[in-house]
Amino acid sequence: MSTPEESDVTGSSFAGTATINVSDLTQYLLCPRLVYFRAKGYEQDRIVKGKERGMIERILLKELAFNLDTLSGGKDEVGVREREDGEEEGEDARSIIDDIVDDIERIYKEELEGVKRDLIVAVKRDIVCGVGTDEWLRKVKNGLLAVEEAQGYEREQMVVSEKLGMSGSVDKLIRIDEEVIPCVIKTGRCPEFSVWRSERVQLAAYAMLIEEVFETTVKRGFVEYIRTAEFRELQIRKKDRALALQILKRVKRIKRGAFPEKGVHAPCDTCSFIARCETRKTLLSKLLGM
Ligand code: SF4
Repeated sequence: MSTPEESDVTGSSFAGTATINVSDLTQYLLCPRLVYFRAKGYEQDRIVKGKERGMIERILLKELAFNLDTLSGGKDEVGVREREDGEEEGEDARSIIDDIVDDIERIYKEELEGVKRDLIVAVKRDIVCGVGTDEWLRKVKNGLLAVEEAQGYEREQMVVSEKLGMSGSVDKLIRIDEEVIPCVIKTGRCPEFSVWRSERVQLAAYAMLIEEVFETTVKRGFVEYIRTAEFRELQIRKKDRALALQILKRVKRIKRGAFPEKGVHAPCDTCSFIARCETRKTLLSKLLGM
């Protein structure tokens, strides 16, 4: 059950002035130059041409992850969802997914601007067929949902630390008695074991923010791989914290104007900064007489 606070920002008055976001750290891992160009104020295309379907899928799945409690017959922010006469559990799940999907155009208005409705409807049809199966539902119920149902969570809680000079929006903030647990939703592929490196960094960064704001120690975090209904628990290790802090320092340097090397697996094919990146490379080559 989602239990949002009156304010979705937890931390200090720094909220308005924080410049480093946890998403900068994950962007750095993808390609440090993305951080550079964004810091320069260049807008990244919201929708990469030819990748609209993937973006709609990610939005749909993420919204679904925020509604798992409704799927299991639990309460959401407006109470228990009414089941219509003769509606079986499987059908119920599919009709809930249908409802959620219908809402996304309003919830994600900005992100979906310019996307054709036909495409949204087609992606929705595929998602409804792909998830909402008995197997998927069983995994949802046996996974993190057990914790969420018992404890509830706060959706997209912003946590801010003036000391670290960093802020972030935690997808789900779960509280079990005194324990505060960050949980991130992922719509991509689930690794065979544990979680991906960028998610370790993301959870470690959230852990440090939460520790400062709530004056507690965060020992673990969760990752929800919603597409396949896999839920992974992760112990927050010292080396993850150290890596997150190291990247934070690098990001700060870039934001002060340092031009970084490109990432090893930089997604240049789909990057909207490609022209700027090439220009910058040519200028540097000329200056260095290469
Ligand atoms: S074009 Fe490639 S190297 Fe340049 S910012 Fe984009 S992903 Fe990074």
